[in-house]
Amino acid sequence: MTNFTDLGLAEPLIQAIETMGYEKPTPIQAAVIPAFLDGRDVIGIAQTGTGKTAAYVLPMLHALEERPSRPSPKRCRVLILAPTRELAGQIADNIRSHGRNIRHSVALIVGGARPGPQIKAMARGVDFLVATPGRLMDHMETGVLSLDDVEMVALDEADQMLDMGFLPPIRHILGSIKGKRQTVLLSATMPRQIRQLANEFLHKPAEVSVSEGAKPIERIAQHVLHIEAGAKRRVLTDILRDPELERAIVFTRTKRGADRVQLHLEKAGLRAEAIHGNRSQSQRDRTLSRFKGGRVNVLVATDVAARGIDVDDVSHVINFELPNVPESYVHRIGRTARAGKAGVAISLCDRTERAYLRDIERLISTCLLYTSDAADE
Ligand code: AMP
Repeated sequence: MTNFTDLGLAEPLIQAIETMGYEKPTPIQAAVIPAFLDGRDVIGIAQTGTGKTAAYVLPMLHALEERPSRPSPKRCRVLILAPTRELAGQIADNIRSHGRNIRHSVALIVGGARPGPQIKAMARGVDFLVATPGRLMDHMETGVLSLDDVEMVALDEADQMLDMGFLPPIRHILGSIKGKRQTVLLSATMPRQIRQLANEFLHKPAEVSVSEGAKPIERIAQHVLHIEAGAKRRVLTDILRDPELERAIVFTRTKRGADRVQLHLEKAGLRAEAIHGNRSQSQRDRTLSRFKGGRVNVLVATDVAARGIDVDDVSHVINFELPNVPESYVHRIGRTARAGKAGVAISLCDRTERAYLRDIERLISTCLLYTSDAADE
C-alpha cells in the first residue's frame, strides 16, 4: 500500500499530513504527486471530493521547501487559478494547513472583495497566489503584479472555468508567463476546449484519471422522482423532513428559483438559506459558515455558487430542478459522499425536464433509478 512517505514528500509535509489525520494518499494523490515531483506537467481528471487539491498543493509545497528563495515584490512563485472565490478560499486554506510546518506566504486575489488589501498583499511578493481569472487580469493590467517569476501553475476545475467564460483570460494569463514553468490542470471532465488548452500550454503531460470519464462515485445512491412541477415543493419539504437527512444541498437552475425555494422552506419551518451570485461575498461567507457549523442544515444553491464548496457530511443532494448542462449533474451530486462516506442524490424531474435527464443518463451511461411512489398525487 502506498503511503505518503513512499511518495517522496519532505518530512515537514509528512508531519502536517499526520496532524491532519490522513492515513494514506487518495488515488489521485498517489498518481499526481510522484509525477509532479518528477518535474512533469500533469493533467488530472478528478472531481471534488477526491483529494485533488492536496494532490497538487503538497508537491508544490515540497518544491518550495527544496528550492527556498524569497519572492520578489509584486511577483509570485506559484499561481493557482480557480473558477470561484469560494474554491479559491478553500485552496488557500488547504495550502496553509498542509504548509503549516513550512515557511510560505499565500495571497488571495478574487472578485467581490476590495482590491486595496489585495494590492497590499502583492506588494512584497508571495509564494502562492490563488486567484480567479477576472480579478487577476484586472491587477495585471494596472501593474499590481507581474507573472514573470512564476515557476508552477495549477488550473483547478478547468471545466468550470470554461463554463464560466474564463477561457480567454486564462489563455492571456498563461501566455504572459515567460520562462519555464511546471503546470498541473485539474478537471472533472475533459471537454474539447480544455483538451486544446492543455495541448497549447502543457508540455508532454502525464495524464491520470480517477473519475472514469464523468461517472459519479458509486457510493452515491441516485434516485429520480418523476413528478409534476406543481408537486415539487411539497415533495421537497417531505424529503427534507426525513430524520435520516443530516445536511442537504438543494439545487435550482436560477437565482430567483433559489430564493423562491428558500422562502418556501422557511415558511415550512425548515432551517434553509440560499447561496447564489446575487448575494454579496460577506453574505455568502456567512451562509456558508452557518451551513458548515450546522446552524442551518439546508443550503439552496445555484450551480455556480455551489462550485467547489467543500463541506463534509452533506448526506443529501436534491436536484429541485435538473441542470440543463449534464456535467453539472455530476458536479452537483459530488457534493455528497465525500471523504469515503455514503450519500443520497434525489432528482425531481417534471415533464419538461425529461430531455435533460436523458442527456445526463447518456453522460453517466447508466439508467437512474426510477421511483414512482412519491410521484403519486
Ligand atoms: P478535495 O477533493 O481536494 O476537495 O478534497 C476533499 C476532502 O478530502 C477534503 O476535505 C480534504 O481535506 C480531504 N482529503 C484530502 N486528502 C485526503 C486523504 N489523503 N485522506 C483523507 N482525506 C483527505
